[in-house]
Amino acid sequence: HAKQNGKGAAVVFDERHEAAIRDMAVVEQALRSADLEQEMSVHFQPLVDIVSQRTIALEALARWTSPEIGPIRPDVFIGAAERSGQIVEITRLLVAKALREMRAWPMDVRVSINLSARDIASMENVRRLLAIVSESCIAPHRIDFEITETAIVCDFDQARDALAAFHELGVRTALDDFGTGHSSLSHLRLLPLDKLKIDASFVSDIEHNPTSEDIVRTVLQLGRNLRMECVVEGVETEAQRDRVAALGATVMQGYHFARPMPAEAVPGYLNGEAVSAARRRRGRGAGP
Ligand code: C2E
Ligand code: MG
Ligand code: MG
Ligand code: MG
Repeated sequence: HAKQNGKGAAVVFDERHEAAIRDMAVVEQALRSADLEQEMSVHFQPLVDIVSQRTIALEALARWTSPEIGPIRPDVFIGAAERSGQIVEITRLLVAKALREMRAWPMDVRVSINLSARDIASMENVRRLLAIVSESCIAPHRIDFEITETAIVCDFDQARDALAAFHELGVRTALDDFGTGHSSLSHLRLLPLDKLKIDASFVSDIEHNPTSEDIVRTVLQLGRNLRMECVVEGVETEAQRDRVAALGATVMQGYHFARPMPAEAVPGYLNGEAVSAARRRRGRGAGP
């Protein structure tokens, strides 16, 4: 494509492309020499029930600060870790860290944890994950594993067995970034999935693109019919919140409600929310 824009554009493209490849090689090298246990941490972002205005779950999100290059974005280092295979170790660490953090939470909200294709690519990997769950003091029914359709199409039969094994222990499953990638309705029919997370890209232009609005409305309806819980991701503004709420969504996640926060901030955040809820109840009680 670069050639069509003339020689100058092609040169700029190539240089940027090379710089990106160099950067990626640096990231991959730093990751290989990383002390994952020390350098990986977990942040949490609330999933909010807009009716009760309360957090019902928090999504665990990996954070990595390399001592050599500083903080690296998850979509960059997760991709690198998936290619190197280190993702399997990172996921085990993240699951263990997230479940450990939950012990300090003041109420029984759920946790939602992202898995990659490799994490469910063998029953041995699945068993190792379930062992971490069993060894924690967290009830399996408080845990959701999020997987993307990309992970499912890698090996459909294996993905189905993995999800069934999670279910057997009581861990629930969510389909992440729904509507992007290889969306297929047969996934919903053939796999034991409890939850759909509607991708943020449908929300970002919902006020200007009637098609996005139609898609969100239709997916919410589909979720209701299939008795799957729906979460709308990437709600950044009040206007988006209102639009999505008008389409029937009740659970949302996004900067409008809260940004991902360090694990230490979660207990205070949940307590603060409980205080505001009590104040709202008293306010109503004292009203006319
Ligand atoms: P995801 O699982 O779809 O997670 C949601 C991403 O959207 C997070 O990005 C979150 O910070 C971001 N986000 C939340 N609300 C908003 C909003 O209102 N606006 C915008 N623009 N973004 C919002 P993050 O933390 O950078 O993670 C990016 C992706 O990296 C995740 O997407 C997930 O696919 C992957 N990832 C993160 N942590 C892990 C992990 O522990 N394991 C695996 N396998 N993947 C992970
Ligand atoms: Mg996710
Ligand atoms: Mg997502
Ligand atoms: Mg995503």
